[in-house]
Amino acid sequence: STKAVAEVEGSDLQAPLADGSTTRYVNFDYAASAPALRSAVTRIQELLPTYSSVHRGAGYASQVTTQAYEDARAVVTEFVGAADDQCLVFTRNTTDSLNLLAGCVPGPVVVLDIEHHSNLLPWKRSHVVQAADSIGETIARVDIELQRTGAALLAVTGASNVTGEILPIRRLSDLAHSRGARIVVDGAQLVPHRRVSLAADGIDYLAFSGHKVYAPFGAGVLIGRRDWLDAAPAYLAGGGAVRNVAVDRTEWAPAPARHEGGSPNVLGAAALAAACQEIESLGDAAAQHEAVLTEQLRWGLTDIDGVEVLKIFHDISDAVGVVSFVVEGHRAADVARYLSTEHGIGVRDGRFCAHPLLDRLGHGDGAVRASLGLGSSSADVEALLSAVAQYLTR
Ligand code: PMP
Repeated sequence: STKAVAEVEGSDLQAPLADGSTTRYVNFDYAASAPALRSAVTRIQELLPTYSSVHRGAGYASQVTTQAYEDARAVVTEFVGAADDQCLVFTRNTTDSLNLLAGCVPGPVVVLDIEHHSNLLPWKRSHVVQAADSIGETIARVDIELQRTGAALLAVTGASNVTGEILPIRRLSDLAHSRGARIVVDGAQLVPHRRVSLAADGIDYLAFSGHKVYAPFGAGVLIGRRDWLDAAPAYLAGGGAVRNVAVDRTEWAPAPARHEGGSPNVLGAAALAAACQEIESLGDAAAQHEAVLTEQLRWGLTDIDGVEVLKIFHDISDAVGVVSFVVEGHRAADVARYLSTEHGIGVRDGRFCAHPLLDRLGHGDGAVRASLGLGSSSADVEALLSAVAQYLTR
């Protein structure tokens, strides 16, 4: 049987059941927010005694804190294989990162209708392409739209937050570049599960969230090519974003400082970097672990009569550990509530901030999503499969 590959917080959490007893909490909601890795928590504890201001303080504690913040930037830059002309801005989360980039894009943006709202709504001049059932046909449609609109940017998710399907990033980046556009990858669901390399995958911009890579809430990343970031107005006007200010004139700093106005989330950035380091040290073991569990989950659910597993593209087989399903004739909310109150299993139900996609898949009234990660085990998957089967026979 497959056991957790890393220590995460909350692995011995007890959940209350409807009958007044408690049971081990089984976390199948990693795609929303992953439990913190122990190494991320330890990093915060290490930094608390020297917790101080960054960049402008002369004192010892300030220097330690500034170093920790800039070390975090270097670690994460390396973790995602950034090229020399790319720089990393710490943000609050993926949503924040994509909104920041939206203020820097010098032209139209092409995007698919399968995206999370955070990769749909920020784009100001966007052209939404309807995905086809095949990724090949979808890419052909993207190509037409890139040419028709003279797009500056193609915005695409690395992995779907609904079906886990992994998009062919290298093909899409080559296509965008061949049409004179750049590409941004929404890495919220991909970075926690697969190694991403901006240089090797031809990615111009990448956004992701700390709370999905096993660090606490409140820190995110936008990393990408410096020229657009340097040319755009500061994301937040204020202290830290400037070189010089006179009453009648402001000289803005270049990126990343330009877009990091205000005191930054140093502990969040440091924890995010520590989590990335631990993920890196796990190497292929992490993806292998998740691949085994994801297969067990996907095929286990597919095998249950009355359960439909959601899928966007028939020609994509590679996926992260995110599986959405519906139980025919039952409301997703009822299934999710049953799993929680009768079995202590935490899933998510609804439309997953991807309303156009759920509509397209014919499940505009919602689905159930089970998502797993480094702390998951085959015993967890067995518990979920058996609970869904019991729901149908109760
Ligand atoms: N994009 C995708 C694919 C996501 O799954 C999420 C989180 N559900 C987001 C963007 C937004 O992330 P955050 O809430 O951390 O900004």
